[in-house]
Amino acid sequence: MVSTTSFKTAKSEEIFNAAQKLMPGGVSSPVRAFKSVGGQPIVFDHVKGAYIWDVDGNKYIDYVGTWGPAICGHAHPVVLEALHSALENGTSFGAPCALENVLAEMVIDAVPSIEIVRFVNSGTEACMSVLRLMRAFTGREKIIKFEGCYHGHADMFLVKAGSGVATLGLPDSPGVPKSTTANTLTAPYNDLETVKKLFAENPDQIAGVILEPVVGNAGFVTPDAGFLEGLREITQEQGALLVFDEVMTGFRIAYGGAQAKFGVTPDLTTLGKVIGGGLPVGAYGGRADIMSMVAPAGPMYQAGTLSGNPLAMTAGIKTLELLSKPGTYEQLDRITTKLSEGLLSVAREAGHEVTGGNISAMFGMFFTGQAVHNYDDAKTADLKKFARFHRGMLEQGVYLAPSQFEAGFTSLAHTDEDVDRTLAAAKAVLAEI
Ligand SMILES: *Cc1c(COP(=O)(O)O)cnc(C)c1O
Repeated sequence: MVSTTSFKTAKSEEIFNAAQKLMPGGVSSPVRAFKSVGGQPIVFDHVKGAYIWDVDGNKYIDYVGTWGPAICGHAHPVVLEALHSALENGTSFGAPCALENVLAEMVIDAVPSIEIVRFVNSGTEACMSVLRLMRAFTGREKIIKFEGCYHGHADMFLVKAGSGVATLGLPDSPGVPKSTTANTLTAPYNDLETVKKLFAENPDQIAGVILEPVVGNAGFVTPDAGFLEGLREITQEQGALLVFDEVMTGFRIAYGGAQAKFGVTPDLTTLGKVIGGGLPVGAYGGRADIMSMVAPAGPMYQAGTLSGNPLAMTAGIKTLELLSKPGTYEQLDRITTKLSEGLLSVAREAGHEVTGGNISAMFGMFFTGQAVHNYDDAKTADLKKFARFHRGMLEQGVYLAPSQFEAGFTSLAHTDEDVDRTLAAAKAVLAEI
């Protein structure tokens, strides 16, 4: 095996074992428990730039970036300094604050579909609010989502997406009533025919279609040519709304998100992750006539005690300021393409069948020889092999998302040297697994 003599885990194990008696599974969010890759998770101590240090003193190159927000690099000095001075004015007002206008203007200027925006505290909140708005605006109750797309943990989105039950809307988790998900119709990603069929079978009943315009929650899956355009056309014909969940892709694959990248403008958009710069922020926004339904401008209720708080707004503003500098996305694209192409070629040289790629600062690699257009294709990946790859990389000082069904993320802090070290580690690990 690859030499891993300096890799220590005693403290991580001690802390995680104690955590398991205190919190469900020892974590505050499930994927952190490393269930799908086996082995104990590492417990972080601090983060900076492209790196993580764990409680045992191991250092890692980080390709998770706290699941996306750390696109400028962890603990960026500009963001930290602004947060320090914002802190002096207090952490939350529960009242209007001028910083909300600043971030709102930045979001409206950047994201083509957004004319008016409402801030919330997470991507989940943004998606559940946008769903209420879709229904309020259209007066229809059904929605279409795609298999393998994640829109937060609200009941209506937790639908098992097996093809046999595609139109039944069976819940994915106990505690989710069948009545709640009965209105959630599902289709395979990149499958316009099924979407057309669902509209034909449910005339004037479908409020809209929600999707990740580039999927990151089934691993990294890109839209086929014409897919987003097709959805735009169908929803318009049917008097339904098109919603892009850009919680992951917003300000990541382009400053204006996937809608700017692909030139397809939805009616509504959800955001999160990057716009909070590492603090809890989500947002939903879109056409002014739709957004004017939201209280107190209109009758659709949605509220939040900590929404738009000055600390979160400050982190978001500073992060977007850093991202809006010239050359940022070219740099993200260059470094990520080098990483992604490097990983694929190192894996193939070692005799593994792999599929993958990147768009700007979002990437993925599946251990399958098959092209991946949807969740079923993604599920052909060799998960045991991924688990061994993940553990091997961890021991080599590279932190990848602990699941084959998660995209990877780079940041402005990742250097050519980091990528070279990552590829050398991958070469060593892939020769052994
Ligand atoms: C992360 C994510 C969410 C949920 O956001 P949280 O802030 O974790 O609640 C929703 N949609 C997509 C596409 C995401 O990637």
